[in-house]
Amino acid sequence: MNNSLAFLHVFIPFLILSLCTVPTIHAEQEDAHENYQLSIDFDLQKNQLTGTAKITIRANQQLTLSLNKLRVTGSLLKAQNGDEKTLVLEHNVLTIPESDQQRELYISYIRKMGKSFENIISPEGISLVSNWHPIPNRPMNFMLVARLPDGFTAVSESDLFPLQQAGDTITTTFTTPLLSLHFAAGPYHHQSIKVREGLMVHTLFFQEDKLLADSYLKAAARYIERYESEIDTFPYNHYVIAANRLPTGFGFPGFTLIGQMVLRLPFIKETSLGHEILHSWFGNSVSVDYREGNWCEGLTSYLADHSYRAEKGEGIQDRKETIANYLNYTDQDDVIPLSEFYSASHNQPQAKAIRAVGYAKSAMFFHELKEKIGDQPFKEAIRTFFTENSGRTASWSDLQRNLEVSSQLDLSGFFRERLLRKEIPSVAVENIEVNYQGHHPVLSFTLVQKTQEPFTLVVPIAIKTATTSIFQKEHITDKRTEITIRLNSLPIGFTIDPEYSFLRQLSEGERVARWSSFLGSRKTLIIIGSLQDKENYDSLLQSFDQSELTLKLEDTVTNQELGESNLLFLGTTQNVSKTLFGDHNQNMPGFTLDVRKNPLNPQLIAVLASGSDKSEIDAVARRLSHYGKYSSLRFLHGRIQQKTINPSQSGMVITLEMVPDGGKTSSISSFEQIIEELSRSRVIYVGESHTSYADHLLQLRLIEALYKHHPKIAIGMEMFPANKQPALDSYTLGTVDMDEKTFLRESEYFKVWRYDYRFFRDIINFAKTHSLPVVGLNLEKKIVSNVFRSGNTDTLEKKVKELLPKERDLDIPGYKERLSIMHNVHLKGSHGAGKFSGFIQAQGLWDETMAANIVQFLQSNPEYKMIVLAGAQHTRKDYGIPPRVKRRIDIEQSSVINIYSHEGHPDLARVADYFFLAEPIELPQIPKIGVILLAGEKDGQKFLTINKLSPNGQAGAAGLLEGDILIAIDGAPIEEMGDVQIAMLDTKEGGKIGITVLRNNGDKDEEMEFTVTLSSLELPMEHP
Ligand SMILES: [Zn+2]
Repeated sequence: MNNSLAFLHVFIPFLILSLCTVPTIHAEQEDAHENYQLSIDFDLQKNQLTGTAKITIRANQQLTLSLNKLRVTGSLLKAQNGDEKTLVLEHNVLTIPESDQQRELYISYIRKMGKSFENIISPEGISLVSNWHPIPNRPMNFMLVARLPDGFTAVSESDLFPLQQAGDTITTTFTTPLLSLHFAAGPYHHQSIKVREGLMVHTLFFQEDKLLADSYLKAAARYIERYESEIDTFPYNHYVIAANRLPTGFGFPGFTLIGQMVLRLPFIKETSLGHEILHSWFGNSVSVDYREGNWCEGLTSYLADHSYRAEKGEGIQDRKETIANYLNYTDQDDVIPLSEFYSASHNQPQAKAIRAVGYAKSAMFFHELKEKIGDQPFKEAIRTFFTENSGRTASWSDLQRNLEVSSQLDLSGFFRERLLRKEIPSVAVENIEVNYQGHHPVLSFTLVQKTQEPFTLVVPIAIKTATTSIFQKEHITDKRTEITIRLNSLPIGFTIDPEYSFLRQLSEGERVARWSSFLGSRKTLIIIGSLQDKENYDSLLQSFDQSELTLKLEDTVTNQELGESNLLFLGTTQNVSKTLFGDHNQNMPGFTLDVRKNPLNPQLIAVLASGSDKSEIDAVARRLSHYGKYSSLRFLHGRIQQKTINPSQSGMVITLEMVPDGGKTSSISSFEQIIEELSRSRVIYVGESHTSYADHLLQLRLIEALYKHHPKIAIGMEMFPANKQPALDSYTLGTVDMDEKTFLRESEYFKVWRYDYRFFRDIINFAKTHSLPVVGLNLEKKIVSNVFRSGNTDTLEKKVKELLPKERDLDIPGYKERLSIMHNVHLKGSHGAGKFSGFIQAQGLWDETMAANIVQFLQSNPEYKMIVLAGAQHTRKDYGIPPRVKRRIDIEQSSVINIYSHEGHPDLARVADYFFLAEPIELPQIPKIGVILLAGEKDGQKFLTINKLSPNGQAGAAGLLEGDILIAIDGAPIEEMGDVQIAMLDTKEGGKIGITVLRNNGDKDEEMEFTVTLSSLELPMEHP
């Protein structure tokens, strides 16, 4: 199609993006153009037009015409000498070879309009923009004669407006040569205002929209005045805003054709109208020399859309959204460079990616350029670029020339890098240090460019100290640049590119989960609960144009797949989303869309979409793509009710120091006062550092004191898994007569938890004395480690999976971030195997299981309160167990920690409700036998062998030998390490202990007994 460039701004229904231009081709080399006279007549009922084109071909000229979609009814070529001949058409193209005669070509045709986004001929209105007349291969001077239906008013490219009319026939001429003509007519209401002497703006709106005319006229006049003062005189004799029955948006010389529904959108005259009017200067008057690509959309977007937002104080936000838009819609490995952007059409493959380059990347190009050369030289260059190129085509090189003249800079490198390179800058900070030079603090760091080849960049840096803020720009050209900044006081932090002055990759803290992240992604997985969902959401599914889009029923989705794709969960009936986000269903009427980072892989996103019925889904499906920049949306009956963008950092923020919080010591409360307040809660969490005896003593004191207030109290413990509940009940409730050693064996305390039992002994004893239930909260350790290792829950047995809590929220703010720090520590240690997805799933299962177990107990025992003992990470009130309990049951809760043993909580108020100041205290050492034991197993029988005798212990002196198998301590049988720990619980330094071993004497094993004096060696716990 030789006029494909004419469709730069085709509107998909309801599309509300910026409008675009149709280029006029100005062929400055020819001073006299050929004439093209077109006569047309309409049959509205048949949706067709009949036309005759009369084209003058001068001597020694050939001509090619495209007749695509036209039904030719007659043709004639008439030479000056009177020769006539009819013509034969082939493949919709007519080629007329040269002749020494001037000739007149006549073509009569019929064009019937089917259903199309481009053309319409109907009693409600006519618009003709594509393939409606024979199209020549070079620009010509058009004259149009059209017979209008009754009551219709028309607009086309013309020297004058209103068009000359005699009876029902209008005649127009346009002295600027064009490749094709555009035309609209309808039962319009015509209104106009004067912008200045010699220039009017007109509206041709449908009768039902005539009340909109006034505001459009005023806005258009304002834009024209603005750009006349910024650039130059308006390049046409008039400007017409015409309504179209089709939902399109076109810009032509002297008029724009905008869909009726689009015109009704309140913000069109705030943004798109200005963009469109600016195209009169850039795009129509100075048109694009496409050989070097299309500079026009980026320049227009920057001087219109972006500058309107910047004037409202939203410039930084707009640039950040522009960058996000570029990153979301383009694929780093498969993107065109700016120099290869030609067309803004929505109807091309990869349209979104191509437009991201032509609009977003290009607008950022102009911003970076303006920052580089300065405001005044930039404005000056834009003015001279217009005046020198008005009425002709211009290229990127022409622009570069004007910018170089006004800035006195060589910009060839800048243009080359940004026009020809596909990749965009990516900057990181390394080796941050603060040192002293004399008495001045000096901040130094390395700016690293992550691209293969470095760019030439100006990088703004904002540094914050306690007393002042410093802003400076660094010119960098290398892959690594050392930056040194001398300061007057110590820096608290600094930010790289805080105002988004150039297009670059965003850091993790700057990235926001937006709807466009889904729309632009190549690999997506859509999950539905049932086939009914597929039907209900059909209109939404049809609106997607991703290349790799997989739709799956929830019971066929593996847990592993969830961490590998961008996800879209449709509807509220499916349960898979609940394993990531808990019970997120808000059951609101209307349609809601909620975009989150995928908890299993923060580089990806997960979207929760649900409509309360099919009509709510249908009402928004085709429009949703226009809300790409938002993180969450809610519609009712197709109308937007709420739209939000999740918060994120501005610029790459590097924090060097957190200024600490504090409080008044006068507001510190006594233990009794705090107990008074705590006793109002149903669940009280006491976070611990597992080896801090002070924390365990605090737990005991709190249990005792709260018991005094409310004797029906249970103790929930992370230290026991839920499947050991029978042992706990037997012992503390006395349901079975059981001694402590049996309890420790049956509860497998030393197998599961392993820490010194004396940390909990007083607590368990208190529970036993007062018959308080102790509730095992934990998940079996092997389940957690299985999920951690495999990265997902797919490998768990079916019956294990059924026991897991169905609703798991991995997306509580801060949770992923904290776990990702912990995960990195794990990776650096020896546990390297697990992936982050496994780590977060294992942690999530852990916290959710404990929450589910707490809730289960509270629901079956409504008169009970619970004190929960768990690690301080689990008791965090922001994202530990408490919010997960709250999600399930609405009760009062309090979280408590001892700040002496919990360093690294600068955000104390987010972590806990109460803090205690319980000073560190040590448990006395358990004395040692002086042996190193090795666990073994033979025929299912476990045993411990003495692997080494400690030279400092008394075991050797007592007669024990390396190789002896330990079978009893003080008569208690020993099979594994836990048995030793149980046997040694109440021993004292200097005390004596009976050791029974099996010793191999030649061919038989002999049982032997020894008495060992216990000593206190500095040995690890494992070496009794
Ligand atoms: Zn445009």
